[in-house]
Amino acid sequence: MRSVLVILFCLVGSVAASAAEPCPGNPDALGTSRVLAINPAAFARIGSMQYTKTLPLEDHEVVITFDDGPIPPNTNAVLDALASECVKATYFLVGDMARAYPSLVRRIYNAGHTVGTHSQNHPLAFQRLSAAKAEYQVKTGIESVDAALGDPKAISPFFRIPGLNRTNAIESYLASKSLVTWSADVVADDWKRIGAREIVRRAMRRLEEKGRGILLLHDIRPATALAVPVLLKELKQHGYRVVHVVATGEHPESVPELLGTAEYNKESSPRVTKANGSREKPAKVALRHRVTNDATTKRRRPAVAGLHESGFSTNGFGHIGFGNNGFGNNADHWKQHQPKSFGTPRGAATSF
Ligand SMILES: [Zn+2]
Repeated sequence: MRSVLVILFCLVGSVAASAAEPCPGNPDALGTSRVLAINPAAFARIGSMQYTKTLPLEDHEVVITFDDGPIPPNTNAVLDALASECVKATYFLVGDMARAYPSLVRRIYNAGHTVGTHSQNHPLAFQRLSAAKAEYQVKTGIESVDAALGDPKAISPFFRIPGLNRTNAIESYLASKSLVTWSADVVADDWKRIGAREIVRRAMRRLEEKGRGILLLHDIRPATALAVPVLLKELKQHGYRVVHVVATGEHPESVPELLGTAEYNKESSPRVTKANGSREKPAKVALRHRVTNDATTKRRRPAVAGLHESGFSTNGFGHIGFGNNGFGNNADHWKQHQPKSFGTPRGAATSF
């Protein structure tokens, strides 16, 4: 279906729409109102926070994006929330996180979301990297997500600069590689120490101010994971429609899942997680990304039917407890990713 849709869009141009499909089991779902297929050559840089150009959205249309993941259980919780509302989003994954949690990367893709990248290690001062180091970050991040997906056609040529710390040099490099540089139109400050309620409030207020836009969120954050279900309800109540952005070109309908692997088991069962706390790679990632230690995680069952059948039930966020997950403090990964500034605005002024 996905391949067919995108090929069709290629024929009609860089922008196309599809009718919303019903959401099984949830007649009141927010849903995804249309698919917007963009030709990377026509959208080098998007997002009014930093650029003059953004996506061609209608009034009350929103594109939901998530940065810095994947990481269980927060990414899983967000995926559950999106699935229950039949909402499709765009993910900007960090390479080392993708290497650590490849089955979660595949879950994101197989749920129908768009997968872009966000560097290999998410350097905090991306704008100060040498050209060689910045290019290495871009290239290796893509390679890592490619490796996690197992199909080079699954990844989208979409890149978001860590911290939105742009430079002319990195933008030129990204354009030379036909990568769309994604900034955003609206942020909810969810990298700051604010709770779920405040994340929802800021997202809604700023969307109301702009009327539409690309919303930037961080699915690795516990508070964001808690905010997303509420946010989706609010969007529905306020008449917003979700637009799913894809790149023109052919993409596989799905990629093989990593069922039965140690990786799969550890991501899908908290009982297994505790028994295998010494798993080497995520532990290393956790340590690398540790900043503080107050918001650790416990895993929960992913709930998208057919993707992870681990055999124990869940109800909403009841299973999320931010205790020790055996791998250190992965949930604090986001804290290293706080955009201290958004670089030099280019084009339209940034204001928030
Ligand atoms: Zn980031």
